[in-house]
Amino acid sequence: DVHLNLNVRGLGLSATLAINERSNALRQQGREVFKFGLGQSPFPVPAPVVAALREHAEEKDYLPVMGLPALREAIAGYLDREHDVAFRPQDIMIGPGSKELMFILQLVYYGDLVIPTPSWVSYAPQASIIGRRVHWLPTHRANHWKLTAESLDALCQRDPGRPRLVILNYPANPHGYTFTGDELQDIARVARYHRLILLSDEIYGQLQFDGRHRSIARYYPEGTIISDGLSKWCGAGGWRLGAFAFPQNLSWLRDAMATVASETYTSVAAPIQYAAVTGFQGGGQMDSYLQRARAILQGLARYQVELYQRAGLQLAMPDGAFYLFPDFTPLEDRLRARGIEDSVTLCETLLEETGVATLPGEAFGRPAGELSLRQALVDFDGQQALDHADQGVDET
Ligand code: PLP
Repeated sequence: DVHLNLNVRGLGLSATLAINERSNALRQQGREVFKFGLGQSPFPVPAPVVAALREHAEEKDYLPVMGLPALREAIAGYLDREHDVAFRPQDIMIGPGSKELMFILQLVYYGDLVIPTPSWVSYAPQASIIGRRVHWLPTHRANHWKLTAESLDALCQRDPGRPRLVILNYPANPHGYTFTGDELQDIARVARYHRLILLSDEIYGQLQFDGRHRSIARYYPEGTIISDGLSKWCGAGGWRLGAFAFPQNLSWLRDAMATVASETYTSVAAPIQYAAVTGFQGGGQMDSYLQRARAILQGLARYQVELYQRAGLQLAMPDGAFYLFPDFTPLEDRLRARGIEDSVTLCETLLEETGVATLPGEAFGRPAGELSLRQALVDFDGQQALDHADQGVDET
């Protein structure tokens, strides 16, 4: 591997892969494995969106690099309707998954990446592949693992004027917590002062249980890029469609990203883009689907949080998405007595002894010696649950 780019050396040997491989090996041996390690929606793609895809199956042409005009318009309408933020259709960019758009953003933007620990697994490796510096900001369980304005300010004060891209994800993978309006305003103030660029990863925004997701773009419109897509709230991860919304004064980033897109993936598959218009336009059926999905996820979260609490763990109810991030530190003595001293061993032991596959906190940037893990709320086909769910969030 002498001619391998130094930036990618050592990447790919992640704990995530190891757990997945082990899960598959156990299944092959005939063991029952509960795949709570996945990050995929359990729900089917809503029927009107599938119907739109069928209808456009014969669309075969390359679409504009930035995306289908009708889809960019539908997404601008969706952001305004659902999250009360104003973007022009020409400031929306469509890509093959928000993950790819994030990678291209990191490629074209020259600056450090700042993310909280824990964070979604791909932000930091993307930065490493490109050769960007990554700053992990510490967080605390008692504060629901959330990045604070103070820690962000302290980092920027140490080396003022450095260009920085901060990724905020809320409700978050791996823990499901989101920011309050006050927290968003405090972060916005720090971001404005230090002229930071915020990438607001709102891919789980529509899966906030109370249906009241709020974007930081409301408080820092000039420096916030919103990231969203079909993958989570529309259950269509495998369709590969993501979108970025840029403020007008960051059009230089938008245009640079379009150049890279035009030289790489060209455009997202045409039928998918036509179908996505239906999803983003919303309407009665979409609303009903989302309300039921939120109610199911909230019920599952509440049930499982109670199980953890009864087992002696301090786990607060998440605000949205489909994950829990329990920290087993309170049971540390018992676990250490059994030789379980880090999150990878914790996940491996859980898998071997119970068949429950999860992901170690270490994969999300937590210190190895901390006994945290991420579990998905569900490992089932959500169609049945949707069929039987009442609409509206259960407040009891
Ligand atoms: N951001 C977060 C926090 C995620 O959990 C995921 C998917 O796992 C993504 C982004 C990527 O989504 P997409 O399917 O749009 O690439």
